[in-house]
Amino acid sequence: MNTSQHTENGKVVLVTGASSGIGEAIARRLGAAGAKLVLGARRVERLEAVGRAIVADGGEAVTLATDVTRRRDMEALVSAAIQRFGRLDVLVNNAGLMPLSPLLQLKIDEWDRMIDVNLRGVLHGLAAALPVFDRQGSGHVVNITSVADRGVFPTAAVYCATKFAVRALSEGLRLESGPGLRVTLIAPGATESELPSTISDPELRQAAIAGFRKDLIPADAIARAVAFAIDQPREVDVNEIVVRPTAQAY
Ligand code: NDP
Repeated sequence: MNTSQHTENGKVVLVTGASSGIGEAIARRLGAAGAKLVLGARRVERLEAVGRAIVADGGEAVTLATDVTRRRDMEALVSAAIQRFGRLDVLVNNAGLMPLSPLLQLKIDEWDRMIDVNLRGVLHGLAAALPVFDRQGSGHVVNITSVADRGVFPTAAVYCATKFAVRALSEGLRLESGPGLRVTLIAPGATESELPSTISDPELRQAAIAGFRKDLIPADAIARAVAFAIDQPREVDVNEIVVRPTAQAY
């Protein structure tokens, strides 16, 4: 086996939540490196603009309107990979939201939304992709969690719960899988993106921006970590990467 080749080159990579922030940065970086991309998100215009920019730079990208809370949408996205490129090599479960609030405010719709997107969306991705990986005898799941997958802070109890859950899921998948499947968890710290816009309380949003989101790293810092994990030879499974701003303590 040639282990020196750039393995992300030519791989078919599906990215959810590719219309902005970290997902967009992952798509752009991998596209420039020669990956064949299958991109999903709900804001189709934004998503198509990302796809067009990648193609204009000489890359390959298919875009499809996708709501990860709908199992059928994830199935259609995986099918698009097979139809267009004949296979799927990497599933990047990135779509997520972070509407912070104290539990006592009972923002139950927002709790449900986080469970549906951050956790159930990942499960829908797995349900759609694992049979393909099993048939192929190879595959790679990359789950974008957060430093909130290992530490809890006030107003983030439900967000952290969803990210802790995805961390547990990643480890369970790794333990259940044979040598054909790689499982990587990427846990970002505070990163430039549109994530604070999902905080519905304006005061809390401002407090987050001025507080724990004061020092941000660019989304491409996370994309580089994803590229590193994908680029390893088949027999090397990078299980976890935590990437924080140097100034971020927790
Ligand atoms: P953004 O808000 O910029 O991006 C979130 C992406 O998720 C968008 O592309 C959005 O697309 C997509 N998304 C949201 N809901 C759905 C849905 N139902 N179906 C499909 N796509 C959806 O934030 P980030 O880039 O920061 O977030 C990406 C991931 O990174 C999230 O999982 C987040 O928890 C994680 N993260 C981010 C950190 C940060 O500081 N930025 C730190 C730690 C983790 P659309 O609205 O078009 O559907």
